[in-house]
Amino acid sequence: MHQFYVTDLQQSDTNEKLGHFQFLVTFADKTKCRIFYDKNPDWKISSVTRLLTVPCPICRRDYYCSCLDRFTDEIHREIQDSGLLPE
Ligand SMILES: [Zn+2]
Repeated sequence: MHQFYVTDLQQSDTNEKLGHFQFLVTFADKTKCRIFYDKNPDWKISSVTRLLTVPCPICRRDYYCSCLDRFTDEIHREIQDSGLLPE
């Protein structure tokens, strides 16, 4: 199991009526990703995309890869445990 250590969650684009949330997530190693959440009523990740300006936390490349897709559950668990999600 991979550990990311979520250190920051920054809300970037939100449509609360539709329950769509977008966050910029920072991990302990300074890599970042963008996460799209649906809240209906539970938080559920709809997609995770990497910021192409920062290397991937898994494969360390800085071009397109889809590593994070395999870790959606882990990332979601960490974000929930971090208590950083809004009420
Ligand atoms: Zn990767």
